[in-house]
Amino acid sequence: LKAEAQGFLVHLAVEDTDSSRGGCTTYVAALLVEELLELGAVFTDYPNLVRLNPNIPYKTRGNGAVALRFRIKEPEEAFQLATRLVEEHSYAREGLSEPAVALLVGESIPAELGELAGRALWDLVEVSYAKELAARLGIRFKTWNGDVGLVGALAALGNRLEGDFTFEVLAYRERAYWGTERRVDPESVVEMERWTYPYTFNSYDREKGRVLITPRGPDPVLYGIRGEEPQLLLKAAAMLRVAEPIELRLIFRTNQGTGAHLKNPLDPHHPKPHTSGRLRGYVASNPTTGPGGHVYFTLQGLEGGRLYCAVYEPTGGLRRVARALLPGDLVEVGGGVRPPAETHPPTLNVEYILVLRPAASRRYVNPLCPRCRARMKSMGRGQGYRCGRCGHRDPRARKQVVELPRTLSPGLYLPPPRAQRHLTKPYQRYGLEKRGGTIKLIKEWFTRLH
Ligand code: ZN
Repeated sequence: LKAEAQGFLVHLAVEDTDSSRGGCTTYVAALLVEELLELGAVFTDYPNLVRLNPNIPYKTRGNGAVALRFRIKEPEEAFQLATRLVEEHSYAREGLSEPAVALLVGESIPAELGELAGRALWDLVEVSYAKELAARLGIRFKTWNGDVGLVGALAALGNRLEGDFTFEVLAYRERAYWGTERRVDPESVVEMERWTYPYTFNSYDREKGRVLITPRGPDPVLYGIRGEEPQLLLKAAAMLRVAEPIELRLIFRTNQGTGAHLKNPLDPHHPKPHTSGRLRGYVASNPTTGPGGHVYFTLQGLEGGRLYCAVYEPTGGLRRVARALLPGDLVEVGGGVRPPAETHPPTLNVEYILVLRPAASRRYVNPLCPRCRARMKSMGRGQGYRCGRCGHRDPRARKQVVELPRTLSPGLYLPPPRAQRHLTKPYQRYGLEKRGGTIKLIKEWFTRLH
């Protein structure tokens, strides 16, 4: 009865497969939040920014969808509002994007929807299955230019971000500035990161001196700062020196930086193209460097099967780690499976290497002469050794084993921040993982500034 007085609990998802003209799912979501608040919606969670399997072929730039969760008297009004805003902002009419809106009313998320959401993090979910499920669960939806966007919309609806999660504060530009250079002082980004470490992440790439909080395209995002807590993100935002007006600012709760896409174990016997996951095993070949500087090696799974692995050039220093691998090294790798082509079998596009136990590096050398300490020479296979200096012969002498030091230490190795996926869990987040809990919105989670 109490719930009814406050209205229905509504889950509303927007997936706007970004067009090249700079559509942006989160911006449509921000406008939608503002209008829903005016309609009297009471939000029960931050807008959820759900990143999906980054290794699927029809991915959008960020492959993310947004789910809003709120109480409202008239759910249909919310649906109409969402479809209108998507049409106004997504370039769907020009045929440049394939957005979708989906709405579910209910206190809980149906198990099958949760299952779809879990699978969408690492697998390829069929559009036909998404449509069938939406019909069966009474999910109201609208799509444009095909139904591809429905998968992402349902995946966002069904993902309550119940395990580990992070936040991102996004600031949006005034329309007059879209497409112009973003006026955020890089020095202030460096300072902000220094002051907020380890509670913000991937704001800056030290190696290349590149600011990562500002996107490059013509989209309305001015910057996005990722981190652990909403209040801290607002402090971080206040540290930036920004020389242009900010229209809107909104805090999202998200699975970014949680590694959620790599939890699934891969089967090296049948690596399914476009799936993401991880595999533990022994390095089975010496790494080779191919054209373009990509490094390749083969991993033998603990239960057999072999997976061809590639550490591509953009992953920078991760290739140094790959080149230092030796056959017999026990490692875990995570990444996405690329389909086979004429030149290669199904290939894992490696996103991390966890070195568990480096193999001993051995070299076999001829024995030393016991008389004069010179290296002896072989007298032929199974014939023993002879000293070239003093003539000493030893038919029973054998090669000696020399243990070489390994340059590779056990531990986790990631690409530099600029090459990480939205979902990649950065080093500093290890030990900071959250475990669900009650979500309480801070007052300034949504602000119109201009
Ligand atoms: Zn000798």
